[in-house]
Formats: sequence, structure tokens, C-alpha cells
Amino acid sequence: MRVSEINGLSQFLLDYPGMSTSPCSVQGVCLRGNFQFQACESVGGKIVDSYKLEIIVPSKFPQALPEVTETGGKIKRDGNFHVNSDGSLCLGSPLRLLRKVHSAPSLTGFVDQCLIPYLYAVSYKRINGGDFIFGELAHGEQGIVDDYSAMLGLNEKHQVIQAIQLLGIKKRIANKKSCPCRCGRRLGACPFHHKLNELRKMAPVSWFRKHDLVINTPPLPVK
Ligand SMILES: [Zn+2]
Ligand SMILES: [Zn+2]
Repeated sequence: MRVSEINGLSQFLLDYPGMSTSPCSVQGVCLRGNFQFQACESVGGKIVDSYKLEIIVPSKFPQALPEVTETGGKIKRDGNFHVNSDGSLCLGSPLRLLRKVHSAPSLTGFVDQCLIPYLYAVSYKRINGGDFIFGELAHGEQGIVDDYSAMLGLNEKHQVIQAIQLLGIKKRIANKKSCPCRCGRRLGACPFHHKLNELRKMAPVSWFRKHDLVINTPPLPVK
């Protein structure tokens, strides 16, 4: 794809002169280089740091999220820094990241809202030890379920899974199924459907259907 098709890419290259586009084997744009940033948060003060990064921006961005890998060996892969098993950085739960990107749908929006807060927390932890400074989620599925529970106002894992499954089928059909909030009504008859409809704006049905949480769970029973 052409580089100009990624919203915010030219601004990104201006803001981060250590990064440049490079050949990419997947559909999208690959950015590599030294990512130097500075950020200031009331919790940890000003931090200036840099990481060697590879950022793969999929051609479907912002409806699909970039994948970021740290290639300089500065972020330890010892299970304490939210690095996924494939080496990509765990910047947050997928739906939370999608919502952040949806509110600022450009590459610089992704960098400001998703990437820099993560790198800031990593740098802070490398310097000071302790936990990640922004309310840390458990790494992996439990953290994702906890985050989605908070986003959706649900209490239990199976309710969250049911909600994600409902997002993976067409709205008209989903509205006829029972509501995950336990109101005893059909989804379409409960105000909870507004919450799901907000999320539907951020990604296609297929994205939710392929969501990892759902893969390990039996599909919704047909009623
Ligand atoms: Zn994680
Ligand atoms: Zn309900």
C-alpha cells in the first residue's frame, strides 16, 4: 500500500525523525528506528527516553491496531514488562486500545494515547522498580476480562464473553438474544445494547468474532 494512505504518518515521521519506513512483508506499513520521546505525568514527572522499535501499521488501521516490537533489548522479557509471547508489546487490552484509537484515529493518536503511556510506564519501572504506574492489569486473558468488565459494567467473565460474542454477530440478530447484564430481557429491550452499539462503531463484526477471548469459548447457544 502507499505510505500516504496511513492517516498521520507524515506527521509521525516529522515528530520522530529517528523512525523511517522500511520494506514490509505484511499488508501495511513498517516503521523502524530509534523512537525518542518525552512525556510528563503528574505521577512520575518528566521522562525522556528512547527505544528501538518496529511498528507495523496494518492497512486496515485504524480499524485494526498496529503491532509494536522493541528490538534493542532494553525491555526485559522476564514477564514483568507486558511483552507478549510473540515479542510484541502488550499496550493494553485490545478493546481499550481500539477505543483510544477511535477517539484519535491517526498514527500520532495511537502513539500519543497507546504507545507513549506504555513506554513511559516501562521507563519509570526500569528506573524506579515497582509496578507499572498506571493501574496495571494482569497480563493475558485475566487482565483483558477485568478491563472489559470495567468498560462494560459487568461483573463476571462469562457475561463479558457473552457480550463479545454478541458483538461478533449482526446487531439485528444479537438484539434478539438474552442480554448479558442479567436483566432477563432481550438485549434489544435493555439499555445495555447502547454500550455494545458504541463498540460496534469501532470495529467490524469480524474483528469481534476473531477476538482471542471467543476462540476458546463455545459459541452462543441458538435460542
Ligand atoms: Zn500485558
Ligand atoms: Zn440487560
